[in-house]
Amino acid sequence: MIILQSIGVVDRGSITFFEGELRSIFDTVKVRPAAKVPASAHVPERDQLDGATILQSLPAPEPGAGDALLGVIDEDLFVADLNFVFGLVYGSRAIISLARLRQEFYSLSPNQDLFRERALKEAVHELGHVFGLPHCSDRRCVMHFSNSISDTDFKGWMYCERCREMLEDSGVKASF
Ligand SMILES: [Zn+2]
Ligand SMILES: [Zn+2]
Repeated sequence: MIILQSIGVVDRGSITFFEGELRSIFDTVKVRPAAKVPASAHVPERDQLDGATILQSLPAPEPGAGDALLGVIDEDLFVADLNFVFGLVYGSRAIISLARLRQEFYSLSPNQDLFRERALKEAVHELGHVFGLPHCSDRRCVMHFSNSISDTDFKGWMYCERCREMLEDSGVKASF
């Protein structure tokens, strides 16, 4: 089961979108009430939040094959040695940040379809990590590492054949 939780203010449309899309891929999705952004995640000298602090503040789901918590936040995240991250994973918990997925972030005109497609890729990518998948060398596979938004745009939102087999071996079914 995928547990979906917004952290701080995230527009309802995005959550409903994730709920529908993830349900069609992973079957069961439950939406938990929004979590507060922990005050300790604010780092005064930067206009970003500490991703690891937020991730660790989220309650972990009950352990079980295919169980994952996906937190969604609309603020820019960093972790210790990276300037920014699109998302991060710790055990059965993952978060994705929507902040760098909008065209406006790159001073381009808004494109809602592109924004949603990027968001879905990041969600499916981080959930893949929760389910034990490493990064994939196939640049079209959703598990390929995104160093920049153009990597995200190049890859698809699905797991490649090899990644899908690895998922099945660990008891996770993903339908596309
Ligand atoms: Zn990754
Ligand atoms: Zn792959």
